[in-house]
Amino acid sequence: MPRNTLRSDVNGSRSVSRGEVSLLRPLKAAETVARTIVGEIQSKSLPPGTSLPSEATMLEQYGVSRESLREGLRLLEVQGMITIRRGPGGGPIVGSVDAAHLGRVSALFYNMAGATYEELFDAWVWAETELAERAARNPDGALRATRMEPFLQQHEHSEEGLGPYLEEHAGFHHAVATLAGNRVLSLSLETYGQIVTHHVAVLDDPRKLRAVLTDDHQHIAKAVVAGRCRRARELMENHLRGVVDYCRSRLAVPLNSPVEWL
Ligand SMILES: [Zn+2]
Repeated sequence: MPRNTLRSDVNGSRSVSRGEVSLLRPLKAAETVARTIVGEIQSKSLPPGTSLPSEATMLEQYGVSRESLREGLRLLEVQGMITIRRGPGGGPIVGSVDAAHLGRVSALFYNMAGATYEELFDAWVWAETELAERAARNPDGALRATRMEPFLQQHEHSEEGLGPYLEEHAGFHHAVATLAGNRVLSLSLETYGQIVTHHVAVLDDPRKLRAVLTDDHQHIAKAVVAGRCRRARELMENHLRGVVDYCRSRLAVPLNSPVEWL
C-alpha cells in the first residue's frame, strides 16, 4: 500500500473512505478468543505479571484451532495487554493498562496519516495543560493531596541512570492525569507524552533538565493541591513549552517529518 493512501491533512480531510470496519461485523475466531481472554483477566481481576494458562489448556478450554489461539494471543500482545515469554516454561502473562502501549499503537496511525512531530508537540502541550486544570478541579481534596504529595518536596538526586529519572518524570505527569477524573481522557491524553518520551529518550539524556523540571513539578503539584485550576493550567503550559523547546532542539529528524513508530 502506498504510504500516502491514508494521509490526511491538518484539517482532518481524508483522501480515503473509512473502509469496511464496523463494530457490528462478526468477530473472527482469533478475535473471539482475544476478547474471551480479556474478559477472564477482568472478571478474575488478574494483576499484571500473572501467568495465563498454557497453550494446551487454552486450546481445550476455548475449542479453537492452534492457529486461531496464537493469532488471538498475538493480537493482545501487539497491544501490550499481554506479553508472551517464548521458549520452555514460557507462555502468556498479563500486561498492564498503560498509556505507553496505546501511544505505540497511536504512533502508527500518526505515521500513516503523515502527522508531524510539530503536531505531536502541539497536542502534547494542549493535553497536559488540560489534564492539569482538570486535576486541580478534582472535587476530592484529600485525593489531590495524596497523589501530589511525592512531588511537593525537592528530592536529592543521585546519578542513578536514565531509567529511574524517566520513570520519575512520567510518574508526575501520570499522577496528574489520574486526577483528571476521566479514564478515557487520562489514557488518551497521556499517550502524547509517552510517544515523545520514547522518541526523545533514545536521542539524548534529558537528565540535564532535571532540576528545572522537578522545580516546575513542585509548583504545579502545589497548585493542584490548592485546587487552583487556572494556575495549574498556566504552570503546566509553561512547563510543557520548556520541555517541548528542549525536545525540538534535540530531535534527530526535521520537525515536519512524520512521527515514527516502534
Ligand atoms: Zn514534567
